[in-house]
Amino acid sequence: MPLQLFNTMGRKLETFTPITPGKVSFYGCGPTVYNYAHIGNLRAYVFQDILARTLRFLGYKVTHVMNITDVGHLTGDDDGGEDKMVKSAREKGRSVLETADFYMQAFFRDTDQLNILRPDIVCRATEHIPDMIALIRRIEANGHTYQAGGNLYYDVTSFPSYGELAGLRLSDLKAGASDRIDVDPNKRNPFDFVLWFTKSKFENQALVWDSPWGKGYPGWHIECSAMSMKYLGEHFDIHTGGIDHIPVHHTNEIAQSEGATGKKWVNYWLHNEFLVLNKEKMSKSSGDFLTLGKLLEKGYESGDYRFFLLGGHYRSQLAFSWESMDSARSARKSLLQRIGRLLAATRFPAEECGNEAAAGLENAGQAAPRMERFRAALEKDLNTPLALSELQGAVKDGLNGRIPVLDALCAVHIMDRVLGLRLIPEAAVQNRTETAAAKNPAFSPEENARIAALVAERTQAKKEKNWDRADEIRRQLAAEGIVLEDRPSGTVWKPAGKGGL
Ligand code: AMP
Ligand code: ZN
Repeated sequence: MPLQLFNTMGRKLETFTPITPGKVSFYGCGPTVYNYAHIGNLRAYVFQDILARTLRFLGYKVTHVMNITDVGHLTGDDDGGEDKMVKSAREKGRSVLETADFYMQAFFRDTDQLNILRPDIVCRATEHIPDMIALIRRIEANGHTYQAGGNLYYDVTSFPSYGELAGLRLSDLKAGASDRIDVDPNKRNPFDFVLWFTKSKFENQALVWDSPWGKGYPGWHIECSAMSMKYLGEHFDIHTGGIDHIPVHHTNEIAQSEGATGKKWVNYWLHNEFLVLNKEKMSKSSGDFLTLGKLLEKGYESGDYRFFLLGGHYRSQLAFSWESMDSARSARKSLLQRIGRLLAATRFPAEECGNEAAAGLENAGQAAPRMERFRAALEKDLNTPLALSELQGAVKDGLNGRIPVLDALCAVHIMDRVLGLRLIPEAAVQNRTETAAAKNPAFSPEENARIAALVAERTQAKKEKNWDRADEIRRQLAAEGIVLEDRPSGTVWKPAGKGGL
């Protein structure tokens, strides 16, 4: 079955056909680095990551571009309010660039912890001002702009399909316009938006650049149009963001990009639903929000949060609660323990699980039907909850002997390249920790280390069917008054005649 994606443009599932066979160009809106990312923002980046990993799993060569907004994003998406970066820098007594650097590093620390792969290209708005100016000049040359009160505006009435992404017609937008607050009196239409500001609403705008319209700074929307086209060309495959970007940011990006080129810009628009907290949306600007750091402080692991997110489909609203985090934590822990039991039962060389391009099927052995269903789940608009349950099914099949343990582990290894839960390494760490904890405190550390080395040698000897050596080690330790007990998670030892461990 070919990959199907839900296209916000048209609001239906569509079969994905890339512009260039075998290749996918994909732009995801990135963070505005004026504060830490909240856990809702992180949902947007886990979604981008799952999309990129799925496309690669299906054999596409992916170019994933993400912006870093370090200028021009006002507190209101519709040009209202203050520049978020300037406000944050002032409050924290830092320069705008220091603020941007600080939160950009914090952002990548979070995304690394969540095992979100870095996009192929990460581009900062402040490093692309000439590209934005060049694009605005094209938009201007095509008659889509006007100057008023010192700023350059986009005239939405010059772009007849304005609002199509949001499912709105310009005539409807006009009718509802009075609902918008903080309407700039320079705008001819409340939905017009700024391409270039020269009149700052606040003093000491820290970052300004020369432009044909005067010294100033770009609007927020133009950065995504300019940077995506710079790196992916004037027509590319996929653009993503959270659903809040549909009515303004992405609607305006389309007007700009297509207003400049006169042709279709993006083929597939994908939007993730919100993570909500007590039915409210999380807001980074409200100051009081949950970060990954706070989850870690409370004793959760980053993998617990990723696991929690994958348990919901990206197009469904997901309600965050501590109870649901607890369930995710215990479900992940039990999955790791089960994988740990598979690992204890065999030697697992991941290299034997084959190459990545094969979408897993030919390397899954008897887990192939699971792998096929796993792939089908992802091909049906990235259904991660279903994909995760196929992975859990493969583990179960391995544990109850329905398929060989090695096939189950290969299936987990291949599936986890998409889900990114680091399951096999984490399960191996858990196994080692449990084995260490099972060591008997009756022995000194040196004694434990010596016994552990002999036990490891015996485990290897057994794997190699060298039963003589394995028995010899058992006898040697027994002579010293040490008995061995083989458990699914590994071998433990204790002094003979003493109670259980
Ligand atoms: P920002 O840094 O505010 O520009 O937002 C970064 C990304 O997070 C954007 O793609 C937003 O659409 C997305 N986003 C914001 N809030 C949430 C939320 N509560 N749940 C999911 N995504 C969100
Ligand atoms: Zn954007």
